[in-house]
Amino acid sequence: MARLTFRGGVHPPRRKSETQTLAITELPLPDQLIWPLEVPPGTRFLPVVQKGDRIRAGQIVARTADGFPLHASASGTIAAIGPRPYPGGPEARSLVLRVSEETGVPDGPGAAGRRETEHGHESFLEKPAEELRRRVLEAGVTDTAAGAGFPEGRPNPTANAFPSGPRVPNHTVVVNAMESEPSLASDHRLLVERSAEIVLGLRLTMRITGCRKGMIAVPSDNRGPLRSLRKAVRRLRSVSILYLDPKYPGHNETALLASLGLRTASSGSNPGGKKGVHVQSVTATLAVTDAVTRDLPQIRRVITVAGNGIRNPRNLSVPLGTPISACVSACGGYVSDKVLLIHGGPMAGVALSSDAAPVTAWTTGLTVLDGRDQPVLPETACIRCGRCSDCCPAGLAPYRIEAFLRSGREDLARLEGIASCIRCGSCTYICPAGRPLVRIFHPVPASGREA
Ligand code: SF4
Ligand code: SF4
Repeated sequence: MARLTFRGGVHPPRRKSETQTLAITELPLPDQLIWPLEVPPGTRFLPVVQKGDRIRAGQIVARTADGFPLHASASGTIAAIGPRPYPGGPEARSLVLRVSEETGVPDGPGAAGRRETEHGHESFLEKPAEELRRRVLEAGVTDTAAGAGFPEGRPNPTANAFPSGPRVPNHTVVVNAMESEPSLASDHRLLVERSAEIVLGLRLTMRITGCRKGMIAVPSDNRGPLRSLRKAVRRLRSVSILYLDPKYPGHNETALLASLGLRTASSGSNPGGKKGVHVQSVTATLAVTDAVTRDLPQIRRVITVAGNGIRNPRNLSVPLGTPISACVSACGGYVSDKVLLIHGGPMAGVALSSDAAPVTAWTTGLTVLDGRDQPVLPETACIRCGRCSDCCPAGLAPYRIEAFLRSGREDLARLEGIASCIRCGSCTYICPAGRPLVRIFHPVPASGREA
């Protein structure tokens, strides 16, 4: 069988042997939760609560203009509504909850055994598609790109979940479990620990979208540990597991589709929808199951905290809005006073200047690098080796784009196709001259932290 792969890409050391074996553990509730109300690009929630209101876990606390809800991930009192640190930029208007002690979050990995029993029957798959869709939207299920550390150019979480008007009717749902960022292993752990629920979420999504086929895309070097997933799909003719080339950035939707032989433009939202394929993250697929079978809103997510700058790497189930500092403390803290904290993976994540920002629905993980051990390649002149072009999955010539941008010719950079850049960072990773290509293409406000 032909190897399922895409053009370009790189093979950074995967460093997953440690994090893939760490069972998911539940983070205790912190004293305070922060829920950003402004989520670039373009999503804005309007609060439906006020400062001083007492609220319960699962209650709706804000909605977008078209009604998409944001739920409280714990009980407590609204302590403030105002600007707070935000992982994608300096600050965003946010709701701040002072968490009360008496009630917690109505979910957690400890309930896994009970869920297996509850979800073992098929009755939910017989409900009308429109009822299922309504439950998923009411639960605030949103989808995000895996690994990138920021939402991937999709304007509205409602549209993310199930676009109401695709140009081509969807025929296939693909669960994107490629997780090609080094160190991150939260999707892998969910596939190991909650495989039956993920398969149910995939089948529910197929029913909602009218798709006849479902696939779960996993890296081909990951076959061994996924016994429970293979067992869960064994008797299902409409669902299969796809083993794709594990190179980076295989988790990117455009790269994933290319691995399936479907070429799409690298830029623009919902590339799969244009080919009749609904691509959905592992987290969103589980959230569909929870929404339909338990009326449970999307108020937690699983993240990996990894890297040589953190004492005890872990896979954590975290209430949304938890300050990153609480996750770091739960992992034993930083190994030194000079670390680089990255929101997401080391390849495409965003460096943070502070750990005060909260975990959000699109936080796939945190990477902490010990600044003392990071060899910094000195930036030298481009030698025109072409390695950046060879590895670019979008088919660009990054060295040419860089030259145009450095000389102030953004018009020529646009003609060269910079809009198709998927921010994967492969060009920066491969460059022998230490050129910070992706940082020049997409400047970010923060650039490292000192703990
Ligand atoms: S990889 Fe680096 S040195 Fe080689 S062409 Fe690209 S920018 Fe120039
Ligand atoms: S130019 Fe963009 S898409 Fe191409 S390798 Fe660099 S970051 Fe990735």
